[in-house]
Amino acid sequence: MSNREVILTGDTPTGQLHLGHFVGSVRRRVELQDSHECFFLLANMHAFTTRASEPDEIRSDTLEIVRDYLAMGIDPDKSAIFLQSETPAIAELTFLFSMLLPFNRVMRNPTLKEEIKVKNLGENYSFGFPLYAVGQTADILAFRAHSVPVGEDQIPHIELTREVARRFNKLYCGIDENVEDDDPIMLEKGVFPIPKADVGKVGKLMGTDGVNKMSKSLGNVILITDTPKQVKKKMGKIFTGRQSPTDPGDGENALMQYVETFIPDPERAAELKDKYVRGDNIGDGHIKVEVAEAISEMLEPMQARREAVGNDATVIDIIKSGTARANAKTEETLAMAKDACGLQFFGRELGF
Ligand code: ATP
Ligand code: MG
Repeated sequence: MSNREVILTGDTPTGQLHLGHFVGSVRRRVELQDSHECFFLLANMHAFTTRASEPDEIRSDTLEIVRDYLAMGIDPDKSAIFLQSETPAIAELTFLFSMLLPFNRVMRNPTLKEEIKVKNLGENYSFGFPLYAVGQTADILAFRAHSVPVGEDQIPHIELTREVARRFNKLYCGIDENVEDDDPIMLEKGVFPIPKADVGKVGKLMGTDGVNKMSKSLGNVILITDTPKQVKKKMGKIFTGRQSPTDPGDGENALMQYVETFIPDPERAAELKDKYVRGDNIGDGHIKVEVAEAISEMLEPMQARREAVGNDATVIDIIKSGTARANAKTEETLAMAKDACGLQFFGRELGF
């Protein structure tokens, strides 16, 4: 068995992947896949929490996300890409963990509150919608993950996960209430390591509206599959409120974030930002075109890799083998968890 640290993270098939996924999480995953035991989750059950009436779209987005992963450099021989819906231990742990979290604690999660607002869910969201936050604690803990590469919006979810791990270890593994998270006893006696969020260099890439986080559900994204023409058009829309090339620009706005993130030469990025902030005769339009070109250059080899992936059957083979690896790991965790809380009466063998 591998002694490498475990990484778990994933994406919900609510659309294709975009630049926010790349800079916030996927780029980091690619860096870690040689040194860590990596599991990447296709959160297709969670997609039903907001999209239950669109099963066909969820299915096709699930396959498209795998293509995006491969395009961005995830190697399925090194990392297990797997289906949430075919990893039953996750669903079982979700039910168990839902008993370890007060209802009001879940509902106070700021990321959930924000999603209810920006996705216009109002009062009519399903019972399953807030349950996804509990489910996400199970996604992570089912792998006994040490770290979770994510964008900054996920930090409250990881905090909830850390609470569940602590509570479980203290309730069922005989760990004293006062033991700190990093005390070696937590790993020796507890079932679950207390996982850490590993936020990428760009924890929150702004969308092309210039106002909100780039997000699949908000239609403000540059996709991994966008052509140079599409990238240029979308970049052109970024709102800055600046009127003329001689107006001093806001160095913290979305356009400047794109400059810092996507202009590959840091000296050129610094020069653009300096001129922009001073209003040194540099128009937004000029900068947008330069950034769009840099993005398209970055995307070009990704798109070539994506083209080479093959048909749906090939993609399904990849997720089938990743799901077998995920089940081996999560069945082991579930047995340990059941053992700790008296639910293990006899072992079981699933046919994966
Ligand atoms: P949705 O709108 O359905 O919530 P999303 O675009 O927010 O979709 P998720 O599937 O929720 O994408 O997020 C997957 C991962 O990508 C998470 O780790 C999240 O933090 C990260 N991520 C998503 N958008 C961004 C962004 N704009 N900047 C940085 N990280 C991001
Ligand atoms: Mg999201």
